[in-house]
Amino acid sequence: MTLRQEPSPPNPNQPNPAHRTIMKLEFGQDKDFETDLRQRVNQYFKQGGGRSKAGDWRLHLKTAIILTSFAVSYFLLVFVAENLLQGLLLVLLLGLSTACIGFNIAHDAGHKAYAKTPWVNKIMAWTMDLVGGSSYMWFWKHAVVHHRYVNITGYDTDIDLGYLGRLSPHQKRLPFHRWQHFYLWFVYGFLAVHWEFVGDFQKMIMGGVGKHRFPRPTTHELVVFVAGKAAFFIWALLIPWIFHPWYAVLFYYGIGVLVLGGFLSIVFQLPHCVAEADFPLPNRDTGRMEKPWAVHQSSVTVDYARRSPIVSWLFGGLNFHKEHHLFPTISHAHYPAISSIVEQTCRDHGLAFREHRSFWSGIAAHYRWLRKMGEPDH
Ligand SMILES: [Zn+2]
Repeated sequence: MTLRQEPSPPNPNQPNPAHRTIMKLEFGQDKDFETDLRQRVNQYFKQGGGRSKAGDWRLHLKTAIILTSFAVSYFLLVFVAENLLQGLLLVLLLGLSTACIGFNIAHDAGHKAYAKTPWVNKIMAWTMDLVGGSSYMWFWKHAVVHHRYVNITGYDTDIDLGYLGRLSPHQKRLPFHRWQHFYLWFVYGFLAVHWEFVGDFQKMIMGGVGKHRFPRPTTHELVVFVAGKAAFFIWALLIPWIFHPWYAVLFYYGIGVLVLGGFLSIVFQLPHCVAEADFPLPNRDTGRMEKPWAVHQSSVTVDYARRSPIVSWLFGGLNFHKEHHLFPTISHAHYPAISSIVEQTCRDHGLAFREHRSFWSGIAAHYRWLRKMGEPDH
């Protein structure tokens, strides 16, 4: 966790515009829990002659299945489908395959957890550029900002929907948030459209997200950004438009991107935006977080559907979200195995291990949280 060892600026609540950097915030110094947890997890990887923390054959096989599903569903949708039912089934599969590329391949690679070799991680991270996102932007927004400051209002941009919704008790409530537990599910769907056409470009031009400033991209990163966006627009819109009327292209693009946006948002919101997760703020006097980093990560992250092999396989282990936030550079292929270690260590240190038994109970908890945050009392 080298990121936490950076020197603190004079005022940790203010970004320094003179230096292109993300906002700084320090955490409590007690490392008992983190040290014990790391020792236990390292012990697991030492067993059996030393397991690698990177992805193994299971991840490679999954990569092949997901990329094949993506390519085949796209080909059949554009060149073979003959009626509405076939088109709808194929675009659903295409949207789900695209989301799975994000969860399983690009997410691990963006955290440098897919492989031991840096260039393999780089190439696999480009799958995100291929499907309309930006691996450069994702690294800074997700792997750095979100992971470092998860659920800290004003720092974690993943819980900031602007006027559209209120995800944290420390955000201002607007009258129409009263209905956010109904309409935000649709907004989630459209977030992917915004991401593909506006958000990445906006962040690239602004050089950051929220109050965080990112280092300017290298020429290489800029080339990947432009080439990725161009490739995405060509396969998603231009090629279908050559063979089909524009309204059919927009119709299927619309359904595919809503499926993608819905899945992405829900899978990433369920572990954090529920009543079982904390939303701590920096101490008013010291400007620091009171809890140590690892305890903070544990308290703001809730697992779901740990016993479901289908959810675990499809969502890239993001249902083991506490494990992911504590060990982001370990491939998700190992999360089911280290989950019991994390749970036991939490209990041994008197920390709650909060989880939802199923995906649906997680969805219900998120619904209740949205409703609660939209109520006038809160
Ligand atoms: Zn992550």
